[in-house]
Amino acid sequence: MLLKRLELIGFKSFANKTVLDFSGGIAGVVGPNGSGKSNIIDAVRWVLGEREAKNLRGDKVEDLIFAGTQKRARVGMAQVSLIFDNSTGFFPVDFSEVSIVKRIGREGHSQYFLNKAEVRLKDIVSFFAKARLGTHGLTIINQGEGDLFVKSSPEERREMIEEILGLRQYQIKKKDAQRKLKNTSVNIDKVKAVVEEIIPHLKFLKRQTAKWEKLSETEKELNDLERIYFKNKLKEIFVELDKFTPRLKEIDEKVFQKSKELKILQEELRKVEDSRPSNRTQLNDIQLKKDELFSKKSEQEKELGRLEAKIEFSSLVKIDSQKAIETLKDLRIVIKNLSEESDLEKLKSKLNEVFLKIDNFLNFGSEQGASNELLELKKSKDELSNKITGIVNELEEFRKAETNISSGLESFNFEFKKAFEKVESKKDELAELESDKNRINFNAERFNLKMQDLKTQIEQAGKDVNELKSNLEDVAPTSVFETERKIFKLKAEIASAGEIDHVLLDEFKETEKRHDFLSSQLIDLEKASNDLNVLIKDLDFKINDEFISSLNKINEEFNKFFQLMFGGGKAKLYLEKFKPKKQILPDESLADSEQKIIEELEDEENEMSAGIEIDLSLPRKKIRGLEMLSGGEKSLLSIAVLFALISVSPPPFLVLDEIDAALDERNTRRFAELIKDFSKKSQFIIVTHNRATMEAADVLYGVTMEESGVSKILSIDLSNQPITNR
Ligand code: ATP
Repeated sequence: MLLKRLELIGFKSFANKTVLDFSGGIAGVVGPNGSGKSNIIDAVRWVLGEREAKNLRGDKVEDLIFAGTQKRARVGMAQVSLIFDNSTGFFPVDFSEVSIVKRIGREGHSQYFLNKAEVRLKDIVSFFAKARLGTHGLTIINQGEGDLFVKSSPEERREMIEEILGLRQYQIKKKDAQRKLKNTSVNIDKVKAVVEEIIPHLKFLKRQTAKWEKLSETEKELNDLERIYFKNKLKEIFVELDKFTPRLKEIDEKVFQKSKELKILQEELRKVEDSRPSNRTQLNDIQLKKDELFSKKSEQEKELGRLEAKIEFSSLVKIDSQKAIETLKDLRIVIKNLSEESDLEKLKSKLNEVFLKIDNFLNFGSEQGASNELLELKKSKDELSNKITGIVNELEEFRKAETNISSGLESFNFEFKKAFEKVESKKDELAELESDKNRINFNAERFNLKMQDLKTQIEQAGKDVNELKSNLEDVAPTSVFETERKIFKLKAEIASAGEIDHVLLDEFKETEKRHDFLSSQLIDLEKASNDLNVLIKDLDFKINDEFISSLNKINEEFNKFFQLMFGGGKAKLYLEKFKPKKQILPDESLADSEQKIIEELEDEENEMSAGIEIDLSLPRKKIRGLEMLSGGEKSLLSIAVLFALISVSPPPFLVLDEIDAALDERNTRRFAELIKDFSKKSQFIIVTHNRATMEAADVLYGVTMEESGVSKILSIDLSNQPITNR
């Protein structure tokens, strides 16, 4: 990093735009008294963020702006720019050149720009703090402040060291955190006060509205319960109604099927009816004919009888009387024998013998007595017998026909009866189904009426039937009796709570909301406060750690430079010990070890805020206090500290205004040699009247006031030849 350029416009005596180019090493600023050299130092200090008027040698903002001369009018604004080479990335920004510009107008409005982007003062201060630059340390030392370190307070000394060690950035963060902590504490107090103010009023409102608060809970409970109740009821009816549809469908299907079957059966019955036999008249005719044949037969049989009698008589007349006597005699003997016979078998055989003799007698007589007449009679008899046989055969035919016709009628009747019964039975089945259907429809209607009734109840309870119907699946089944009992109880509770005062209830809710909001704010604020405390503690530890570890190194260097400048003796920086400890009375309740921890923490806290004291012993002199040192000695001592600091932590540049003023020639030379040496690590801008210092410079700027009251810069090379008028 390199401070490349300083530009001033309208700043103090630099009315015109003035540019100082630097190329590292030592830039000496020389010129007559009052020419404006120190104004250059002020410009750098101002742009680094200095706000204290005293440190800028003015009383008010306007003192920084060119005030005008007899010949030149004043200007309206002052602007100072520092331009750095950042090709090494020293500053943590993505620019190879960094420009910091500060501008102020007469109205007092000041602006900062970082590479042309406007930023806040605090951004600039922290930007420089990271680069170990600032206005609190020893990197800028004003004229007459050569003994600054010695004459500063222990706390100021600590600040100076912290800035050059780069710890100021943490101090800034810490200050920021402390400021936030303070704000947070103020806010905590405010919020606490409001909360405390609210609590009694809230309690009062709570007491007043408790029953209504509960009421709204009860109403909610009732509403929930009623919803469950109605949902269950709806579900129950839907389940029942759903059962009817498939049953009716099933019956309709059966009716359809059975109607089809009935039609078929009716068709079959019709067919059977159509097959009814039409020959009943035939049967009558047969009967008539039969009757006729019967009478005919009986007549002919009578005729046959007569013929047979005639034949028998004719035969008997012609039998031989002798033969008949002999035969009768024989018969008499046989019959007489018969009467003596006791054996039944023999009797039977002798009777047969008798019959045989009679038959033989008769046959003999017919054969013998046969005449033509008899033959005629026999012939007539045969003819008649044949006729009778013919009639009998005819009758037999009629009887067969009659039997056929009768059996045909019988099977018709049987079939008809069967088909008729089937039709009737099917009709019965259909009637049964119709009655089932009517019964189901009747039951369905009952449930529809129940549903209607339930809907009315739901509407009366101020609920939306469709909304309840929409999600019946998720409702848990409950005991209807139990639920009804609870609903009744809740309704009774609501009725007994009385009318709600909504204004009071709203006020309670509003107050409670406010209380809750403030309470949560309080929690947030307390958390933020704790976080900030932790952050502050962490930063304290970090700062203290680095400070203590650097202090030893600084002391080594300090002692070395001290001996070099004072020709011996020794010197040391140390943390002030005399800071009075807080008086803490021992706590009886604490164990010794705990007491010790508390004391150690106290010590740590003291160490963190402890300032820096200087302990020294000069060669050949007995010095009791710093006040006893001469002005030159004080400057030497301060310069020794400055060198010790920059050898441990070299800042990018130092701006020193005549800090060599109080040094004698030998020490001025030594000073010149040392800064020459240090200029390898840090850039120097030194206002000086000392020749030795001027000789050490790589470039010299001469400040003049050619035009009365307006500063001008001349750049001079080491051969002391003026080369440029700026
Ligand atoms: P020395 O060597 O005596 O310390 P110097 O070169 O450091 O002198 P400065 O103190 O820088 O001189 O300059 C002081 C000059 O600047 C004074 O003449 C003063 O009038 C002039 N000056 C200061 N403020 C303004 C301003 N706002 N407008 C015009 N001129 C100003």
